[in-house]
Amino acid sequence: MALEPCTESPVKINTNPVVLKERGQREVFCGLTGIVWLHRKMQDAFFLVVGSRTCAHLIQSAAGVMIFAEPRFGTAILGERDLAGLVDANDELDRVVNQLLDRRPDIGTLFLVGSCPSEVIKLDLAKAAERLNQQFFPKVRILNYSGSGIETTFTQGEDACLGSMVPVLPQATNEPSLMIVGSLADVVEDQFQRIFDKMGIGPVYFFPPRRAANLPPVGKATKLLLAQPFLSETVRSLVKRGATLLPSPYPLGVEGTTAWLRTAAEAWNIAPEQFESAIAPSVARAKMGLDRYRQVLEGRKAFLFPDSQLEIPLARFLSRECGMKLVEVGTPYIDKMLMEREIELLPIGTALSEGQDVEKQLDRCREARPDITVCGLGLANPLEAEGMATKWSIELVFSPIQGYDQAADLAELFARPLERRRRLTV
Ligand code: SF4
Repeated sequence: MALEPCTESPVKINTNPVVLKERGQREVFCGLTGIVWLHRKMQDAFFLVVGSRTCAHLIQSAAGVMIFAEPRFGTAILGERDLAGLVDANDELDRVVNQLLDRRPDIGTLFLVGSCPSEVIKLDLAKAAERLNQQFFPKVRILNYSGSGIETTFTQGEDACLGSMVPVLPQATNEPSLMIVGSLADVVEDQFQRIFDKMGIGPVYFFPPRRAANLPPVGKATKLLLAQPFLSETVRSLVKRGATLLPSPYPLGVEGTTAWLRTAAEAWNIAPEQFESAIAPSVARAKMGLDRYRQVLEGRKAFLFPDSQLEIPLARFLSRECGMKLVEVGTPYIDKMLMEREIELLPIGTALSEGQDVEKQLDRCREARPDITVCGLGLANPLEAEGMATKWSIELVFSPIQGYDQAADLAELFARPLERRRRLTV
């Protein structure tokens, strides 16, 4: 039987896991995909992809349905002519940027996003950003990062983007502050802010901010609490600027959210009674909401392909709070510094895999016949055609799933495809 979620500290059970490491063909989006949620988060930022037509297509098809007004991302496509010489390519980039900033005075921060065509790799985007900053700063700040498929999987795009902002964050004073790192939906941010206020924790800054111009300060008195598990480089850069990481499970599910908030409460020496009274109403509501989905999910088997880096925290939630059995938990890479607290909570003997050899992994999945498979879009269609229920991992990155009020929604994301398949088969 799975453990009941509670407000006690979760007990470590899996302290020495065996990890299957695979290095083969991968099936995963590139870091450009992060633009889809980052442009919604930072309202005054614009993402200019410096890339090819393929990059433009990826961005448009991943985000196309969400464009309802002037989009806040675009692609500077380097054509044949630009390949003739780098001077041409730099001139062309400057021309596109000038045109864009003339037309869009609302842009406060412009990200030049690199991609993988060889002509783009040759272009020094850091230098281009420096050159353009001289022209446009302080009206517009120009930063650069890479979303190339050679260097990044899709959530690493956010890591690269936030990492590019760290050097320009203002210096903090000596007043202790909490920085929540990783994109959260605004509604989730507001919920967390209310709980931090009730506990008396503050000031709290969210990074990325809603407006790129409102950058949070960082310094020796900054404590970092991660809302997303895929921010290895950003965290290391923040630590170099003096901040301290508070290692914690992630705020997925009731148990994960409680453990996450407790990490902050302990760092601020909040009395246990104050902590309990700040979270009690939300915990009670969330447990009730979760209960009905647990009935659908309990005892069912889940297989997670490596894609978003959310797999380990999701697996912990599915097994401990929804009672699911984990067949295999794949993840693109394991950064112990960010993942240890989650791995400790997985059931003993969980089959963890890092990296991917997609054909071998598909064979293991087919053999196990899980009730639900979490995977990228490319694998979902063939598996569905073979009669297996799937959940697109990208949906878990786009949806608000963190915090108490979203715990039932998160469970529902898994219960829904199971119900749909059940109805198809009766
Ligand atoms: S960055 Fe590379 S992997 Fe991503 S869309 Fe462009 S060409 Fe494809």
